[in-house]
Amino acid sequence: MSNGEHRRGLRVVVIGGGVGGLCLAQGLRKSGVHVEVYERDPAVRGRNQGYRLHISPEGEDALRECLPAPVCDLLVATANSRYGYGMACYDEQLTPGWSPEIDDPRAGSPDKVDAVDRVTLRHVLLAGLDDAVRFGKRFTHFTRRPGHGVTAYFADGSATEADVLVAADGANSVLRSQCGITSTPRDLGVRTVFGRIPMTQSLRRAVPKVLQDRFTWVIGSDGHKLGLMPMVFRTRPAAAAARSPVAHAFDDADDYFMSVFSMHRTVLGIPDEEFLGMSGARLWQLVQERTASWHPALRTVLRHADVPETFPVAVRATVPVEPWPVGEVVPLGDAAHAMPPSGGVGANTAVRDAAALTRALLAVDRGEREIADAVGEYQTGMVASATAAVAMSLRVAKWSLRTIDFDESVLTASQ
Ligand SMILES: Cc1cc2nc3c(=O)[nH]c(=O)nc-3n(C[C@H](O)[C@H](O)[C@H](O)COP(=O)(O)OP(=O)(O)OC[C@H]3O[C@@H](n4cnc5c(N)ncnc54)[C@H](O)[C@@H]3O)c2cc1C
Repeated sequence: MSNGEHRRGLRVVVIGGGVGGLCLAQGLRKSGVHVEVYERDPAVRGRNQGYRLHISPEGEDALRECLPAPVCDLLVATANSRYGYGMACYDEQLTPGWSPEIDDPRAGSPDKVDAVDRVTLRHVLLAGLDDAVRFGKRFTHFTRRPGHGVTAYFADGSATEADVLVAADGANSVLRSQCGITSTPRDLGVRTVFGRIPMTQSLRRAVPKVLQDRFTWVIGSDGHKLGLMPMVFRTRPAAAAARSPVAHAFDDADDYFMSVFSMHRTVLGIPDEEFLGMSGARLWQLVQERTASWHPALRTVLRHADVPETFPVAVRATVPVEPWPVGEVVPLGDAAHAMPPSGGVGANTAVRDAAALTRALLAVDRGEREIADAVGEYQTGMVASATAAVAMSLRVAKWSLRTIDFDESVLTASQ
């Protein structure tokens, strides 16, 4: 560190270069802590995980805390520019209904970050980390070293040593059980078709403005629900990257809606093996069939879908969020607490974990605290905030799918 303070030279290895793992890497690097990230995806654009991410005020604070100024500038430049009007709810004929108030203290702030494009966020979070992130590295297991620290092993036969190993490997984490967490994400019975709908000029002309400038929920009378979330870039990703001193070329993207079409599996009436294996074309056909009698403006929006970009999800949640034996192996994000996308807080909780863990590991690196003590405090805060986030996501899922049979036992278990 520039002020010459004594540092322990802590070596942190992060498994998973998703939202939480990369945010942690940015925070640690900014604080002068050595960090390496190992990601199984071969490149930036990985699996289907949705397109637009809602960012809460707490999530924005955590991102701003972890990111160095030039990376933060990129985040702001590529964020959503048009989400100042909250949420609106309708029935399938676009008759307005009651919708929850969204109290966002950032309303009117010109540089707020209230939604981002997921692939662009990954590019942003990678900016300046070239030498710290290794793609194409699938973690398999770890062993404890005599004394302290661990050795992490990868499918390609390589290995690396760490003082602290962070499990940021997402909802299907292989590290979770190796950390001592026994609960696994449970199926909520909700099945969802995610889609991307380019916001072309013809579409903008064809549909009412009220569908374009806010988060729209359409709650059908037959147990189907559609969410339409506009993503309107403040600056196109490629242009923002070209102006940045820290970014490589970003994948470019145009404005779009993310669409989320959900129903309970009993309403879907298609076995999981078939539904989860459906092509984008087949899924989109399913959405068209189920919305055949819906308002023409909604049908028009759906007709503009980018069909190959459509994919299915079975929604899951980790209930309860469990403490783990505190030590040198530390979970973060979905690896510890998967939650349904309905609350729009999974990524926000992951970046809050990242900011808290950055603070904890910085104190360890400075010699101010021992690992067990610092990580223990991180765990207490994380379990409390993630438990609240999972419960909120479950309540939103239940509210929006209220016309159908919801697996109540999962909700009760989270209280
Ligand atoms: C369709 C959808 C929409 C969503 N919308 C929102 C939203 O609007 N707002 C919100 O806050 N949250 C949202 N979420 C939730 C959010 O995406 C997650 O909570 C968030 O990504 C969790 O971050 P993470 O870093 O824990 O995991 P991830 O972002 O999933 O990252 C995990 C990383 O680990 C890697 N990995 C996995 N296994 C290994 C291995 N063995 N070795 C090496 N690397 C590995 C993966 O490839 C991945 O890159 C949504 C989720 C989905 C599925």
